[in-house]
Amino acid sequence: MSTQVRSCSKCFQLMWLKPDEYEILDDETVRAKCPHCAAVVRFKLVTTGANALGPKMGH
Ligand SMILES: [Zn+2]
Repeated sequence: MSTQVRSCSKCFQLMWLKPDEYEILDDETVRAKCPHCAAVVRFKLVTTGANALGPKMGH
């Protein structure tokens, strides 16, 4: 697994989640605690496609 980047469904800030900061519930569902507002949020695990690597940093 790799770092997941998601926006929190509560506070809408980006969460950068290292593998030890989220929990795999099943093949495609992940649960994590938002570092900003401490909400526990669930999201689909995306391993392929345009969003797999998160937002690109500008250069
Ligand atoms: Zn949050």
